[in-house]
Amino acid sequence: MSLGRILLVEDDVAIVRYLRTVLGHAGYELELAEDGASALSAAAARPPDLVLLDLGLPDMDGQQVLEGLREWTRIPVVVLSARDQERAKVAALDAGADDYLTKPFSTGELMARLRVALRHSPRPGDERGADPAELRVGGLRVELPARRVDVDGREVRLTPIEFRLLVLLMRHPGRVLTHKILLDEVWGPDAVDEPHYVRVHMANLRRKIEVDPSQPRYLLTEQGVGYRFADG
Ligand code: CA
Repeated sequence: MSLGRILLVEDDVAIVRYLRTVLGHAGYELELAEDGASALSAAAARPPDLVLLDLGLPDMDGQQVLEGLREWTRIPVVVLSARDQERAKVAALDAGADDYLTKPFSTGELMARLRVALRHSPRPGDERGADPAELRVGGLRVELPARRVDVDGREVRLTPIEFRLLVLLMRHPGRVLTHKILLDEVWGPDAVDEPHYVRVHMANLRRKIEVDPSQPRYLLTEQGVGYRFADG
């Protein structure tokens, strides 16, 4: 049984060969597009379960492919970027990419990211609008209507900003949320672009909900990019 169909958008022959081998062995079905235009038409002709998208393509920027996809679909997109493409990677996350891998990446890391992204893949008839009134991960429990947060059975008091940050991250487990996304969602689109705000509130939030804030179980830092809520 196939674990899912992945559309790989990549022009680097060596990476294509490597991914074909490891993804095939792992049980994924792979479709290849070597440039942006064929990626967009392949995705439209037969929507895959996930898109693995290289940012540097021969005919267009990977970012344009992502924007083209996001006009009509929420299919998970995991971006492949080079080490010197930090800005492009953050821009891709802001434009709706689900996650990223920086080349060179390990097979273990690739598999883990794919599993998480596929778990969040929309299923037919899945509205995602049905927000549960309670969010629960490990010993962390959030009752949304009462705005109550418990950690290992003990209630903790959060400020309204901390509460909004926590709920936003918990609703996207395993997904990287950039500083910009967090600022837009928590402070509003008119907020000043100050990643520092996010860091200060995140530090306070960690002190309240993490047993050891220097070794967080829930709120993980993506260096220079943003934050990720631990997935399981
Ligand atoms: Ca490339």
